[in-house]
Amino acid sequence: MKILLAGGAGYIGSHTALALLNSGHDVVIADNYYNASPEAVRRVEKLTGKPVTLYEADVQDRDAMMKIFKENDIDCVIHFAGLKAVGESVKKPLFYYRNNIDTTLTLLECMEATGVKNFVFSSSATVYGAENAIPYVETMHRGSCSNPYGWTKYMMEQILTDAVAADPDMNLVLLRYFNPIGAHESGMIGEDPKGIPNNLMPYISQVAVGKLDHLTIFGNDYDTPDGTCRRDYIHVMDLAEGHVKAVEYIADHPGTNIFNLGTGTPYSVLEIVKAFEKANDLKIKYEFGPRRAGDLPEFWANADKAKKVLGWTATRTLEDMCRDSWNWQKQNPNGYRD
Ligand code: NAD
Ligand code: UDP
Repeated sequence: MKILLAGGAGYIGSHTALALLNSGHDVVIADNYYNASPEAVRRVEKLTGKPVTLYEADVQDRDAMMKIFKENDIDCVIHFAGLKAVGESVKKPLFYYRNNIDTTLTLLECMEATGVKNFVFSSSATVYGAENAIPYVETMHRGSCSNPYGWTKYMMEQILTDAVAADPDMNLVLLRYFNPIGAHESGMIGEDPKGIPNNLMPYISQVAVGKLDHLTIFGNDYDTPDGTCRRDYIHVMDLAEGHVKAVEYIADHPGTNIFNLGTGTPYSVLEIVKAFEKANDLKIKYEFGPRRAGDLPEFWANADKAKKVLGWTATRTLEDMCRDSWNWQKQNPNGYRD
C-alpha cells in the first residue's frame, strides 16, 4: 500500500515510516517541521535502504495537501500531525484547537476529493478521562478530558466517526496510544523534544546525559503502591508495528474500529527511574516535588482487542525501552541537531 503519513517526520511517525517500509509498503510524508526535522526521514531512508517521498507542507493548507494527494496514489492516511504538549495546550488552547482540528478536516476533505477511503488516527488514552475504571477498554464511554490537548483528541475522534458514518465506503481506525517511550534499536532515530522535555523518559535521558541536573518526580503521595503515578509505557517500535497491523487490517473493515495500543502492564515513575538506572548502569538524580495539575494517579490498557483482532501485541520489555532510549540520547545528545 502507499501510505501518507501526515506529521510523519515526528517521533512516532518516523518509527512508523521505518516499520512500514520494512514491511514492503510505500511511504509519503507531509510535515511542516514544527516539531521535527527532515534529518529523521533521511535516517529512516538510510536504515531501510528505501526512499520516502517527502513534502514540507502544513497539513492545514488545503492546496498544498491536494497537490500531494494528486501527485501520489494514496491508499491510506495516518494522521500524526498534531500538537501534543499538554501544558502548552492549557496556555494556548486556540492554537491547539486550530491546528489539530484543521489538519483533520483538511485531510478528510482531500480524501473526499480524491476518493481515498482509509484513515488511521493517532488518538490517545487521554480520551478515557478520569471517570472510567482501570484498565481502559475500547467499549467504555469516553470520559471528560482534563486539558485542551485531550479535548482535541476527543473532538477529532468525533469528527472522524461522523465523517465515516456518512460514507459507507470509508474505513477508520482509531489507535489510542498509551505512553510511547524508547527508540529504534540502532539509536539513529528517537524522540527529539524542543526545549525542556515535558515527558518523563526524555527528561530522564537528558538528566543522564548531563543536560539537566535532576528529575523532579511529580508527587509521591498518590494512592499507588509506591506513591508515584503509574502508566502503561510502550516501546515506540511496538507502537509502530501496531500501525502496520492497522493499515493491513483497515481496508476490509468498514466503519470505525478502535484499538488500544499499550502493553497492559503499568509501571510507576520510580520503577521507570530504577529500571533506567539498572538497564544502563548509571544513576539518575531525582527529587520529589508537588503533583502536576491534571495528572491521573494511574491508568493502563486492556490490550486484548488488538491482540485478538489485529494479531498485535507489544513484545519489548521495560529494559528494552530504557536501553534504547539511552542509546538514542547518548549518540545524539542534541537530537537531530548533532
Ligand atoms: P511529534 O510532535 O514528534 O510529531 C507530530 C508531527 O506532526 C511533528 O513532526 C510536527 O512537526 C508535525 N505537525 C504538527 N502540526 C503540523 C501541521 N499543521 N502540518 C504539518 N505537520 C505538522 O509527536 P509524536 O509523539 O510523534 O505524536 C504523533 C501523534 O500521536 C500526535 O498526534 C500526538 O498527539 C499523538 N500521541 C502522542 C503520544 C505521545 O506520548 N507521544 C501519546 C498519544 C498520542
Ligand atoms: N513525570 C514526572 N516528572 C517529569 C515528567 C513526568 O514525574 O518531569 C511523571 C508524570 O507525573 C506522569 C508520568 O511521569 O505520572 C508520565 O508523564 P508523561 O508526561 O511522560 O506522560 P503522560 O502520562 O502525562 O501523558
